[in-house]
Amino acid sequence: MKKLTMMAAVACALAGTLGAATTEDCWYPCAKMANHWPGEPERRLVWSLESGIDEKGDWEATAKYLKENGYTDVIVRLARGGIAFYESKVVPVSPLVKEQGDLLRKAVAACHKYGIKIHAWKVFWRLNMAPQDYVDKAIKDGRVMYGRSMTPFCSVWQAPDGTVLKGEKNDYWLCPQDKRNQDEEIAVMKEMAELGVDGLHFDYIRYNAWYGCYCPNCKKRYEAKTGRACPDWPKSVDPMERLDATWLKMRADAITTVVKRTIEEVRKVRPDIEFSAAVFPAADEHVYHAQEWRTWCREGILDFVCPMSYCRDREELRMQIVPMIHTASESPKTRIYPSVGVSFSGAKRTVKTAEEVRDHASIIRWAGFPGMCYYILDSKTKAALAK
Ligand SMILES: [Zn+2]
Repeated sequence: MKKLTMMAAVACALAGTLGAATTEDCWYPCAKMANHWPGEPERRLVWSLESGIDEKGDWEATAKYLKENGYTDVIVRLARGGIAFYESKVVPVSPLVKEQGDLLRKAVAACHKYGIKIHAWKVFWRLNMAPQDYVDKAIKDGRVMYGRSMTPFCSVWQAPDGTVLKGEKNDYWLCPQDKRNQDEEIAVMKEMAELGVDGLHFDYIRYNAWYGCYCPNCKKRYEAKTGRACPDWPKSVDPMERLDATWLKMRADAITTVVKRTIEEVRKVRPDIEFSAAVFPAADEHVYHAQEWRTWCREGILDFVCPMSYCRDREELRMQIVPMIHTASESPKTRIYPSVGVSFSGAKRTVKTAEEVRDHASIIRWAGFPGMCYYILDSKTKAALAK
């Protein structure tokens, strides 16, 4: 009985996913997508860190490789919280620029020479690469996220007593609801747009989990919104204590506001530019990480999203991308380019073989998506990512 119930649930889920009022096998989920975006040539994107394929800032070699191996676009990490890998007037400039030159300008010039589109990848909020004095000042000015112990939050997880369980030095995050932080992050996006990139790519455009930010200003904002004082803060909104829909929605609204404000500001100077985001694939991201990316797709706010469907296992990839067909078919403007993970970090860094990479790409192609994004191009993955 239990088994039957589960099968019925799966059948219903599939019927919903594929948009058909039937539980029959559907040979061509891709047909629905083809009707949606007829005749669109496949787009092949790849993420790269600021220093390119050889990690030495050789953008001529990187762009040449991309052209020779059939890539259409590259998404280049050019700024993080409190730091830029180009001559920025908004945030501190990384010492790497002294050694390797202005990596944004070099990448734009080389990519355009080879006909590759370049998207500036911006990591929002995270300060773990920012200079020490920047981080110290952000803490002093009350601009960073507070954790459950009501102290500046460091690391991806904090125990209830405030102990840091894992993480790294200075891994503080800027509070996403603080307008000073929003303004600075938007100014960096606008600055990069004015330097000639073809697109802007939002990354970490979310919270780090469903805890926080509990800073004194977020408390004030919540009290103003609900009209009630919260002497037991942050227990009144901490998901480990109780689930508060108003609070969770305030977090998601803050993130969506930053996306919309960025687009509005940038369009004033670059109406032609593309906007995209790296997003988490799970069904509950709008709550857990406050990332309402499916709404962004349906409303056509972005040009494309790259769900981070990285996995070693092809079965896992299939399970992750099939539900995205539903979102894609309801999104008239925004394209979805699922990702193929090539390199996996950890104690033992591993890289997929070229055959595995092709196999995973073929699963995405079969499902009907008009492109895919590979993670990540560097000296260790370039052989597996070659044609
Ligand atoms: Zn806050």
